[in-house]
Amino acid sequence: MPTGDRLLPPHEALEIILRHVRPLPVEQVPLEEAGDRVLAEPLIADRDLPPFPAATMDGFAVIAGDVSPWREIIGEQFAGSQTSVEVTPGTAVRITTGAPLPPGADAVVPVENTELRDDHVVIHQEHVEVGENVRPVGADLRKDQVLVEAGTPIGPAEIGLLASLGQVDVPVFRRPRVSVLSTGDELVDPSEEPGPGQIRDSNRFSLVVAARRAGADVVWSGRGPDDPAALRRLLEERIADSDIVLTSGGVSVGEKDFVKEILDDLGTVHFRRLFMKPGKPLNFATVGDTLVFGLPGNPVSALVGFEVFVNAALRVMAGRRDVQPRPVPVVLTHDVPSGDRLEFQRGLVWADESGVLHARNTGPQASARLLSLVGANAFILIPPRETPYRAGERVMAVIRGPIGPAPESPAE
Ligand code: AMP
Ligand code: MG
Repeated sequence: MPTGDRLLPPHEALEIILRHVRPLPVEQVPLEEAGDRVLAEPLIADRDLPPFPAATMDGFAVIAGDVSPWREIIGEQFAGSQTSVEVTPGTAVRITTGAPLPPGADAVVPVENTELRDDHVVIHQEHVEVGENVRPVGADLRKDQVLVEAGTPIGPAEIGLLASLGQVDVPVFRRPRVSVLSTGDELVDPSEEPGPGQIRDSNRFSLVVAARRAGADVVWSGRGPDDPAALRRLLEERIADSDIVLTSGGVSVGEKDFVKEILDDLGTVHFRRLFMKPGKPLNFATVGDTLVFGLPGNPVSALVGFEVFVNAALRVMAGRRDVQPRPVPVVLTHDVPSGDRLEFQRGLVWADESGVLHARNTGPQASARLLSLVGANAFILIPPRETPYRAGERVMAVIRGPIGPAPESPAE
């Protein structure tokens, strides 16, 4: 469906992107390297855990219904072994946390509630319940239970479960290979002193980190001039070697904006302009199986475009189930002028004592002002309308970082 030069609403742009992206192939990695990868098959318990009833306290394994005032200590049961000594009425076995309950016993009396007399133990506890201080078989996991769904990133808890089940080879999705290309004759490297009319290339560094955070393997990053032949060569090379190519700059309608026509020639450009602010010029193209995002040059526009569109594509490729964040309602703490496109204001969101989320923006919202993204834990979504938005009004926000306490200056 050609979208022409219509300004495309972001949700339609996302639908188009998601139609062109598939999860990457599955590969096996050693358990040690599985952290932060995305699990490609559900993790299913192959046994009950714990496999034996286990003590949850240090103390004495006893029979709960036994009313003997004191018990003979007939053995010891430490974690990591299994005694065959059987607990009978009038006897107890000394036990440590995590150790299997000896035969005959059905409860553990904590050591704090006991007193030693020679080779006997006196129980100072009026009533002992069956199963007290015992973790029954399967209390933690049940055989055949789905523990972790496919498509889940492997964090500390998930890798712990993989280890517990002895899964030393882990099926994960291949990581997306990403290249990052900054374009613009005005750009110099950060180590260089900009001459007249020059600026340092910042987008390359921002986009490399953003891509890595999204789970990508950044295989190349560099800079290219505003020269069609040179850009075309660079793009062809990068496309051959990448699942996703990110360019920044050169996608507007200036004399030196060549990215779109090169992409048109190499593959299919699916859209080029969006009904959003910042980030109106944004090209999305496919060349074979490779996705190319021609992001705008302005640093904020490039990063907002990345978060809204590239992130979703990377997550699908990486096999993740949670592809898009769900916006939440927030209450504005100051007036916000309305515009003619859906605006992604960089904002700070915090919760009050009753859990209501409040929001303010991070000051001037110019699309070159990278500082507006520093400390921004949300994008406040401001739909176009005639009248300004007022303090106290409810709008939606996309949460992009941890929610902390109220800021000291609620409005700027
Ligand atoms: P363009 O989209 O090429 O017209 O660039 C828009 C604005 O973003 C211009 O002010 C550029 O100088 C600036 N810009 C483009 N690329 C970068 C970059 N890699 N790092 C920082 N600023 C950039
Ligand atoms: Mg440019």
